Amino acid sequence: MNLEDAIQENWSRIDEGQVATYIPALAEVDPYQLGVCLYNVSDDKLDCAGAADVRFAIESVSKVISLLYAIECLGLKAVEDCIGTRQTGFVFDTILNMEITKEDKPANPFVNSGAILISSLIEEQDQQSPFDQILDFTRQICNDPQITLDEDIYQSELRTGDRNRSLAYYLKAREILTNDVTTSLETYFKQCSMMVTCRDLANLGAVLANDGIAPWNNERMISSDAATYVKSVMMTTGLYNESGTYSVKIGVPTKSGVGGGLVAAAPNYGIGIFSPSLDQAGNIVAGLALLEQLSKELDLGIFKY
Ligand code: GLU
Repeated sequence: MNLEDAIQENWSRIDEGQVATYIPALAEVDPYQLGVCLYNVSDDKLDCAGAADVRFAIESVSKVISLLYAIECLGLKAVEDCIGTRQTGFVFDTILNMEITKEDKPANPFVNSGAILISSLIEEQDQQSPFDQILDFTRQICNDPQITLDEDIYQSELRTGDRNRSLAYYLKAREILTNDVTTSLETYFKQCSMMVTCRDLANLGAVLANDGIAPWNNERMISSDAATYVKSVMMTTGLYNESGTYSVKIGVPTKSGVGGGLVAAAPNYGIGIFSPSLDQAGNIVAGLALLEQLSKELDLGIFKY
């Protein structure tokens, strides 16, 4: 499949969305960008086209990484005990649903309440802050030592993050979040502000697609159970409240973020896509159209049995 052609074919879809504006630093990003990287695991081959090397804020795709890292630190059972695995039917930063349902844990690790809770579980270790550990782990699992925090985006997240603050304090008041709220929020805001490329996200997808083993050096990075758990949650809740729609259309575990990045882990393929124009639900319009095309042409859907 020719990736350059796929970029051209899906380019016009950019006009169907808009860049995220609720975090002011993201509103400055040029919407007219589309990049894709496809990592073929069995051939150990990475193909890229378009804006493949442009750095963008990882935003909610970081929730995949912090979840994997929390599982690495605490074990899968401990993480599963404190987080659910279902869609909320509300926006990703809802402050309502737990109060309405009286549930004692966030619905899933990809809504903001769940992601803040997951980040709060990571403790300082050997004088390394939770964020520094996540940054190190991100560099390893994305195979990119150049990943850094963007200070402007972080400051912008801090200035406009009051809904996230209210979520963290709500979790603390309910004694669901038991660590320090300020540190937990700092970790969360910083992890969202890491700058990655779609090459990085294809590498992350390839580790997940390869049962937790990095295909570039054959080293195990995460357990097989962690890879399976995280792919399952990506399938059911990775694309906000449209996860079901895309499960039918694309059929591949995917997680996107409001910075315009997405990671997908298909059988034998890790995929990273970047396009900052988002639809109403916060999903990447041209990027998901491109992923749908890839899935159809390469027969990637996991329900094809
Ligand atoms: N930093 C963003 C927030 O907390 C991430 C949202 C997203 O990418 O879905 O609102």
